[in-house]
Amino acid sequence: MQNLFGIALAYSYFWPGALNTPARQGSNKFGIALAYSYFWPGALNTLARQGSNKFGIALAYSYFCRIMNRIFKKISNFVNTALAHRREPLRLEFILSDYCNLNCKGCTHYSPLAAKVFEPLDQLERNAAMLGKAVGKDIEYVYLIGGETLLYPELPEAMAIMRRHFPNTRIMLFTNGLLIPRMSDEFWQSARDNAVTLAITRYPVKFDYDAAEAECNRRGVDYKVFGDRGEEGAFLRFALDPAKSQPARLSHFKCFNRGCISVVGDKVYPCSISACIGHLNKAHATRFEHLPGDWFNVADIRGIRQIKRLRDRPVPFCGYCKPNPTVTDYGPSKRDKAEWVDD
Ligand code: SF4
Ligand code: SF4
Repeated sequence: MQNLFGIALAYSYFWPGALNTPARQGSNKFGIALAYSYFWPGALNTLARQGSNKFGIALAYSYFCRIMNRIFKKISNFVNTALAHRREPLRLEFILSDYCNLNCKGCTHYSPLAAKVFEPLDQLERNAAMLGKAVGKDIEYVYLIGGETLLYPELPEAMAIMRRHFPNTRIMLFTNGLLIPRMSDEFWQSARDNAVTLAITRYPVKFDYDAAEAECNRRGVDYKVFGDRGEEGAFLRFALDPAKSQPARLSHFKCFNRGCISVVGDKVYPCSISACIGHLNKAHATRFEHLPGDWFNVADIRGIRQIKRLRDRPVPFCGYCKPNPTVTDYGPSKRDKAEWVDD
């Protein structure tokens, strides 16, 4: 008798649907009882209360197994997600400027609040040289990013610098595309010579994106459309909690910006939300602070483990980030604090 219990319970644990099988075969009452519990867990109480002790025990076991099965699935989903995070390609994002020719509410570089300031070319070269030497062979992508990168006054040189220090890495230049029709021959030449891919994000503004993509083709430069912010669900609001009371581990685990390793000034941060926070602090007198562990000095990067650490582990700043961004409609920024902060 115990064997029948064992078999039925093992079946229900590994394959709940199998509960039907013994019932269909009419092999015994346990099968029927277990099938009942699968479709109607409340039956447990009823039968147990009626004094059918063996049924009650079997059903309780089966109910317990179903709960275990659910827990097991949750754990396995968690482990699979964590492993998938660690398999994501490593990338470095060099911020050329946070200034932008668009003005999107809640921008994760705080561009609507940023002054027209550009990363000095010699700083960019120093950072690229040190990082290329320390981790270049392990980095799969280098991004040039902003703000609007096509506003950067020395863009042809910036692309050449990246190629020089990351000879075997895929280099992508992120842009909202609006200036593509006005870019110089020198720009296109450098993009071709340095095998730079234009990563174009489409925004719901009056602009002929198809013509811009045709221009890339005409100029012989590789491009990729990196999302359309006008599509439903494609525009998100990431909220910060000034009290820093968020569960940093959970925020990091669910983070949409994980892996956006951002290089600005002489530091490397895990994401733009942290790297560019100075614009928000300056504009709204907020006090989102960095603590030791929130960044590395570029000069202190010795190997890929430090970059992986920024990608894979929460930093103190993650305690400011609310775990679930909300979908919102695309719209212009009014530069209100509420676009970024939940008070
Ligand atoms: S185009 Fe991108 S960088 Fe510019 S304001 Fe919009 S979201 Fe920010
Ligand atoms: S601080 Fe942490 S949780 Fe917040 S955006 Fe950056 S990596 Fe994600």
